Amino acid sequence: MTMKFNSHALVLTTMLLMACKNPSPEKTASTVDTPVSDASPKVSFTFDDGITADLAGYPFEEWNQMILTHLEKENLQAAFFVTGQNKLDEKGQFLLKSWNDDGHQIANHTFSHPNFNAETNTAEVFATQLMQTDSVIANFPNHVKLFRFPYLKEGRHPAKVDSIRNILASQGYANGYVTIDASDWYVNSRLIKKIKSDGMENAKIDAFRDFYVQHILERAEYYEKLSFDLHNTHINHTLLLHHNLTSALFLGDLIKAFKSKGWQVVDSGTAFKDPVFSKIPNPDFAGESLIWAQAKQSGNYEEILRYPAEDSRYEKDGMDQLDL
Ligand SMILES: [Zn+2]
Repeated sequence: MTMKFNSHALVLTTMLLMACKNPSPEKTASTVDTPVSDASPKVSFTFDDGITADLAGYPFEEWNQMILTHLEKENLQAAFFVTGQNKLDEKGQFLLKSWNDDGHQIANHTFSHPNFNAETNTAEVFATQLMQTDSVIANFPNHVKLFRFPYLKEGRHPAKVDSIRNILASQGYANGYVTIDASDWYVNSRLIKKIKSDGMENAKIDAFRDFYVQHILERAEYYEKLSFDLHNTHINHTLLLHHNLTSALFLGDLIKAFKSKGWQVVDSGTAFKDPVFSKIPNPDFAGESLIWAQAKQSGNYEEILRYPAEDSRYEKDGMDQLDL
């Protein structure tokens, strides 16, 4: 999962392997913007990576704008966690500007997307990656000091997790935690493969849409149930999606589906103020969704906490059966 500087290689790698995370905390329960007593679950939208290539016949500028238009129609602010290395050229700068100018949060997702569970990706590597991308996004007025770990991996050993947390804090950053993890990246990779092999007209786009919406809702309901059980309230969730073709094609349908199931959709800036984000798991349980880690730490949910928490392996058979 190393990424190359070539943007096409980056795109492919990004489409095939993705997972991220998010940070937040700085509020106390008494000052949250959204009343914690609200009777319905709440979800905000966060997008990781940021690619600048054409996808399955859609020019980059067009599919990127499709995502922004879905958000604009809902008057919704999202968080965009970007890698830095492909944002230095003209297209990369255009991408950052397009999200910034629409009022979305621009946040940090490393420079080249390393997995910090790997021994070679040390705390020193982390510090370099954090600061490289900080300098890429710092000039955009809507940048925020939130950091999301690639693959939601925060370091395999507690000492390294601690070192990385200290570096984050010393730079004024918080973890941009994910609460709802899912595998949109996998549906996206299969959709693009299908369009390439069968053509757009024969790619069963509607069936992909149905699978995608159902999958995200199912994972959202899982993490909502878990978080409600843990915290006895409907938290402001942060859903992990990616800057990809499924977001461009299906985000509008996904938002509609959330609403029809009784969810409120909220801005990412509001969501990250929820006090749940200051309940940071101890270093032995760092990584995956924040809710997954909190549940793991509690010791009370072993039978429903799979590992990896989300992965292509869980969706493959279902998609195979539907010929997606
Ligand atoms: Zn990522």
